Amino acid sequence: MPNARDAHPPIGRLEVICGPMFAGKTTRLLHLLGAAQGEGLDVQAVKPALDNRYHATRITTHTGTWIDSHVIHAPDELARVQGDVVGLDEAHFFTEGLHRAVSALLERGTRVLLAGLDRTSMNEPFHEMGLLLVEADEVHKLTAPCAICGRPAVHTIRLFDSTEPIVIGGEGMFENRCRAHLRSPRQQTGTPPPEAP
Ligand SMILES: [Zn+2]
Repeated sequence: MPNARDAHPPIGRLEVICGPMFAGKTTRLLHLLGAAQGEGLDVQAVKPALDNRYHATRITTHTGTWIDSHVIHAPDELARVQGDVVGLDEAHFFTEGLHRAVSALLERGTRVLLAGLDRTSMNEPFHEMGLLLVEADEVHKLTAPCAICGRPAVHTIRLFDSTEPIVIGGEGMFENRCRAHLRSPRQQTGTPPPEAP
């Protein structure tokens, strides 16, 4: 007789948490991972090696909350992460291969949570995030206040000149802008954007 698990094997599920910088994406990721832990699920957190702003093997929010995490250098390394729930922060860092690696986890029945920027400062899909948003069962699209008018913004612009697609940085290097102020000049005051909720 097949048991219930054979009849209803776990179904993979993809949730993407996206939005501009300082929108609370990592905080939302840690909240969802914590909730899954509370349900007794085996939860594994993962981060790219590139992101070492705060701690080498932890995912840390701007406000200091953290969770121990695996550190991977390439998306293929996700295959060795075993858990009911796998949460990857800064998912946009990977230039290619993430969609394939995430698909493999989903086929395994894993619930996958991805947090990251959905668009570049040039207003284009960030690496494979567009593909992953199409694949997602659920999207948490967060906003942060526009640096000019304070209305909800989904764009992040750079306050410096660089052609590098990825620049690690924090407040003072980027500014969030609503659609109306996407092309407004950089602010002259240098004040950081308002604190995200
Ligand atoms: Zn605005």
